[in-house]
Amino acid sequence: SLVRADLAKLPSYVPGRRPADVADAAGNLLPPVRLASNEVPYGPLPGVVDAIAHAAADAHRYPDAGSVELRGRLAASYGLDPDQVATGCGSVALAEQLVRATTFTGDEVIYSWRSFEAYPIVVGGHSAVAVPVPNTAEHGHDLAAMRAAVTDRTRLVFVCNPNNPTGTAIRGGELAEFVDSMPADVLVVVDEAYREFVTDPDVPDGLDFARGRENVVVLRTLSKAWGMAGLRVGWLAATPHVADTVRKIVTTFSVSSLAQAAALAALDQRDEMRRRCDLVIAERPRILEAVRKLGFETPDSQANFVWLPAADATSQIVATCDRHGVIVRGFAGEGIRVTVGTPEENDRFLAALADAV
Ligand code: PMP
Repeated sequence: SLVRADLAKLPSYVPGRRPADVADAAGNLLPPVRLASNEVPYGPLPGVVDAIAHAAADAHRYPDAGSVELRGRLAASYGLDPDQVATGCGSVALAEQLVRATTFTGDEVIYSWRSFEAYPIVVGGHSAVAVPVPNTAEHGHDLAAMRAAVTDRTRLVFVCNPNNPTGTAIRGGELAEFVDSMPADVLVVVDEAYREFVTDPDVPDGLDFARGRENVVVLRTLSKAWGMAGLRVGWLAATPHVADTVRKIVTTFSVSSLAQAAALAALDQRDEMRRRCDLVIAERPRILEAVRKLGFETPDSQANFVWLPAADATSQIVATCDRHGVIVRGFAGEGIRVTVGTPEENDRFLAALADAV
């Protein structure tokens, strides 16, 4: 075969679908509600569009391959050394680079499941062996079982905190204990794509680990809280040695000049980013309460989405939401992940859900 036959078995990443227009009973067109991809609903941060337009004047030039200014800004913002930072074409690209940086064919990568759907793809795509460990009954990471799954082939462990798609978070000293219990040659990636939505002070900040521990890498992204999903900028914090290795094997020029300029402009808007995240966070308890009233055993969420363990009803509920012009993310037979949108969008979702159950 011209391509690796085993790749046919990999799941495909399912992007959020584009909604169809729907009308209400009176025939008025309703704006579509896109709650499938955990984006923040308020548009790019102020200054970002202008920064892109400005950078576009140099679009015939290659970008800074080392993202030097951006790495410096991130390091300064988060109390890191620039040598500890690597940027990527979305944090998903960095996850893939980490798999390449740590595994030979047949080496093992552990992650909790269900979690971010790109993990099996980036692992299998590089001929590493995926070792998914089932979530607990409460939909969170089973760290004891993940620790027990470590073998002498284990090279990498993904810990998604808060977890996509369930919203659950690891609290207290559990993460430190887990990291410290690992063999010296296993790297733990703490994927904090949703960190800005965490409100519980008992949820550890992975960057505290990245500053103090050799075997931890933290993944962050500008796609969610920072409103830049379409621009593709992620970053990681690690030891200089690990970060340097990841930077070495990047597909050259992976972060475009427009994306770098946009990221610098976005990072100037920390207060506005916080304000927007707080609007999202303020809606979370209302949605949790409403979906629980409708009968779902939804775990508490520390992210900008909630999980409905809808089991066999999943596809029917997704279809009903579709008819209401509300696009959510269904995992057939398991459940539904719904992004927290604006209050109006959330009302539309809750009305659709009430119609579905
Ligand atoms: N990690 C997690 C847990 C995610 O949910 C996502 C986006 N869905 C990513 C990483 C990747 O985000 P991006 O590549 O846009 O930075």
